[in-house]
Amino acid sequence: MAGTRKKKTPAANKERTLEGLGVSSGIAIGPIHVRESGAVEVSEYCIQPKHLDSELARFSEAVKRTRRQLLKLKSKAQTLPEATAEELGYLLDAHLHMLEGSRLIRGVEDRISGKFLNAEAAVQAEISEIGKGFAAMEDSYLAARMEDIREVGNRLVRSLTKSPPTAFSTLPKGSIVVTEEITPADTALLDPSRVAGFTTTLGGPESHTAIMARSLMIPAVLGVPGLLSGMTSGEMMIVDGDAGILVINPSPATLEKYKRRRKELERAHKQLARLKELPAETRNGTKIDLFANIELPREIKNIKDSRAKGIGLLRSEFLFMNRDDLPGEQEQFDSLRKLVTAMKGRPVTIRTLDVGSEKLATSLGGHLMPATNPALGLRAIRLSLKIPELLSTQLAAILRAGAHGPVRILVPMISGVSEIRQVRRIMRSVAGKLKRRKVKIPDPLPPLGIMIETPGAALAAESLARLCEFFAIGTNDLTMYTLAIDRGDEQVAHLYNPIHPAVLRLIKFTTAAGGNAGIPVSVCGEIAGDPRYTALMVGLGIHELSMAPASLLKVKQRIRSLDVAAAQRLVHAVMEQSDPGRISALVDDFNALA
Ligand code: PEP
Ligand code: MG
Repeated sequence: MAGTRKKKTPAANKERTLEGLGVSSGIAIGPIHVRESGAVEVSEYCIQPKHLDSELARFSEAVKRTRRQLLKLKSKAQTLPEATAEELGYLLDAHLHMLEGSRLIRGVEDRISGKFLNAEAAVQAEISEIGKGFAAMEDSYLAARMEDIREVGNRLVRSLTKSPPTAFSTLPKGSIVVTEEITPADTALLDPSRVAGFTTTLGGPESHTAIMARSLMIPAVLGVPGLLSGMTSGEMMIVDGDAGILVINPSPATLEKYKRRRKELERAHKQLARLKELPAETRNGTKIDLFANIELPREIKNIKDSRAKGIGLLRSEFLFMNRDDLPGEQEQFDSLRKLVTAMKGRPVTIRTLDVGSEKLATSLGGHLMPATNPALGLRAIRLSLKIPELLSTQLAAILRAGAHGPVRILVPMISGVSEIRQVRRIMRSVAGKLKRRKVKIPDPLPPLGIMIETPGAALAAESLARLCEFFAIGTNDLTMYTLAIDRGDEQVAHLYNPIHPAVLRLIKFTTAAGGNAGIPVSVCGEIAGDPRYTALMVGLGIHELSMAPASLLKVKQRIRSLDVAAAQRLVHAVMEQSDPGRISALVDDFNALA
């Protein structure tokens, strides 16, 4: 990253500690692998004249995205010791300056419009052209300026391709990946048998990267200011994913302490395993159904091990990640059928594609135009309805998979009744076509449910409940949209609060609407997997929770210690409060006692 030019290396082998957001539990100890944000291989092709405007818009969006990254890094740099902050600040300012009408930017735009060159290739061609000019001058100051230009160019290319610069498959076993940012698609490439843990400068606690880390059970600390300054590959690092602490070059005593802690965690894990065959029911016999969330097919073993009642949320984005084309019906069907068959009769809730916002699938590159505000833009079901083949292909694959075991269809980001009506119409038409093709599908058709993850959907829950067969409350987005706080932005992570009174009211409202209509209501956001919130969920009348498999036994343990009437009294007390701090205190006091 910026700052490598005049790096201040801390005293070799001296132990130092950094703090960030602990997002995925566990202790990892291993050698650091600094993932350089270096050059990315790009392909060169000619764009058709009719796509010129959208190519220029794509480039302009990449410039904006790069600018946002640099501004974020700058604001993070301010929390560092003064001298480092000042040095990094100058450097980042110079990089920001280069994004504003510089020779680099103008040159790239000219190459796109004049030579019909794709944006990535235009950036690389322009850098190499500028480089030729600099090579002719033998001046170390100017050589360093060229390094800056190259770095900004690489950032632009990465923003355009959104691709990981390093293949994780070549990492030495047990590595700790240290990098500026990891996208959810990058995280999907992490192999837990190679990557013991990871840490980044950017990223919030409920970002999809954090969720992915939890489901792969890789300890992770995100949002660490100054992470990359003076960091060298090969040094030893401890990642404490619970406390959000990194220790670089740990002393023998520190190493011993963390090894002990890791043993304790393993022991606690073994103890929990004893709960596997016991029912998830409260002290007074109320059953709570525990389901698993799944991001990647390779998690299926963990799901079976956790004894989940089924899959409560299958995020189908994995089918679209790390590829340049869209998966066809047969490919999607093959993948889903394997999962449905592996679940041996336990229900699988398959959510239709939810990309847009921070979840960008490269395979959709051509369909996702730059948005002023991606979280409020063409995301999830809005995108699927805009490109009907996307939805009908996916529904056909799900319906066909439904012939191999029970499936439920879940629709993300619903904000009004017309969307669910359209989805049902499309589902019926797809089913009709499949029947005419004599393809086996379930009869009756699978239950169709919706995510309640916008305040609008929660407030319209009564009307929506009449149009679908189940609700799944997505507290991650519901919190983000209710409080207007980006779930993936570490700078506002301290304000992100899923038990804010406004969010709790919306959950209560949704649960009551679902109850009145007689449809099941589950919670599948991250709070479902956090035992701290289990009493609240049970007290609110939720009987179905879906979470990362790694959390399931911890939540079961909490359920088994609960008394429903006491949990309802807690909810009653909480609902009278308007102060989030007071709510937190009530919840913690209750948990400490019961
Ligand atoms: C949610 O928003 O709570 C949810 C479960 O969906 P995702 O995290 O995939 O956006
Ligand atoms: Mg969501």
